[in-house]
Amino acid sequence: RPTLRNIETEPPADSEVAPIELRTDQVVDGVLGLIGNMRQGNTPLVRINSLSDALGVEILGKAEFLNPGGSVKDRVALRMIEAAEQDGLLYPNTRSMIFEGTSGSTGISLATVARAKGYETTIILPDDIAEEKAKAILALGGIVEKVKPASIVDKKQFVNIARERAREFNEAPNTHGILDDEEKVTPASLRDSSSVPSTSKPRGFFADQFENMANFDAHLKSTGPEIWRQTGGRVDAFVSGAGTGGTLAGVGTFLKSIRSSIVVALADPEGSGLYHKVKSGVMFDPKESEGTRRRHQVDTLVEGIGLNRLTQNIDLALPLIDDAFRVTDMEAINMSRHLAFHDGLFLGSSSACNLVACVQLVKKLKWNDGQTVVTILCDSGSRHFSKYRNDERLQQLGFVADPEFVQRLLRRK
Ligand code: PMP
Repeated sequence: RPTLRNIETEPPADSEVAPIELRTDQVVDGVLGLIGNMRQGNTPLVRINSLSDALGVEILGKAEFLNPGGSVKDRVALRMIEAAEQDGLLYPNTRSMIFEGTSGSTGISLATVARAKGYETTIILPDDIAEEKAKAILALGGIVEKVKPASIVDKKQFVNIARERAREFNEAPNTHGILDDEEKVTPASLRDSSSVPSTSKPRGFFADQFENMANFDAHLKSTGPEIWRQTGGRVDAFVSGAGTGGTLAGVGTFLKSIRSSIVVALADPEGSGLYHKVKSGVMFDPKESEGTRRRHQVDTLVEGIGLNRLTQNIDLALPLIDDAFRVTDMEAINMSRHLAFHDGLFLGSSSACNLVACVQLVKKLKWNDGQTVVTILCDSGSRHFSKYRNDERLQQLGFVADPEFVQRLLRRK
């Protein structure tokens, strides 16, 4: 009789493995095949056991940290680049330069997709973001420029600098040289049917995730429908933070278009104006002292979410938001430690923030009867060692871990 042992050690007879054929349905076509809507299925929805069991409500997280660029932003980068190709703004393998201002994740995702398609990237980052994000962009051959955090009205703000760099690139003489035909004919370009114009000076393209509707579209066409399919339509609420608002707008629009009673809730970190915008219609509440500080003025630990201005993507999300929850950085850190210790899920700061808000929503609505709440697990904790999960830094900021925080949150009436 076969035992585990002899199955492992004895290879099957040749006759048992024939016919030998590459399973094309099991192999994806390069790194782009790994993004979001994977051939073998979508990014999984993972049940957060410790929270779900305690609440009697299914708390499900979409495991976006499994994307090849390590975050939900891979979907957006791919969609923005494909849209630019369709609009004739980018041609694969011309080494055109993609510019973006980002808190990091979008930069890594753009650099990932750019490498697969024969583009270059210049990424402008605020200089206070976790160092590992800049290193990932550099490892993918991207150019990184760091600037001081500043208000969006400041010309030196990272998004404004990215726009300016793209303009300069397009106006400058063609120092990059016109690509000769030999360079253009690569295996990837042979597969790609889009024709490269003969005068193919590399172009500068400003991706502009805050205003680019391809961001919204990525979530409307992939993340939203995946959540619907994966829950079999059993979804009572969707909770998410907003950095550009693309996720909230795209997923929210898709889910509400099918069932308008699905609750859409915002998880908002300290220093962001969105919470007030949802609650009172204005970006800042002068009565709340913290609300008068802007996100870029706070020593932020939670990265990638929070917004102090209205953009095209968040404009589409705002009418969909039924409720908003304020989450402090310390609450997010305590949640993050809880998830690592109790669930074995080592997640990034915005994921933890989302999960604090999920619990707050369930408690507020007094749900305890098997309802389903879906959120986004945007990136992994390993992206945050130098900052959000840097114990020395937390100590300097006076942070004292509160191992009981999540238990108290779960009990809250
Ligand atoms: N989490 C992380 C880690 C992010 O980088 C971002 C995007 N900046 C978000 C969440 C928010 O996503 P969105 O831009 O779709 O609002």
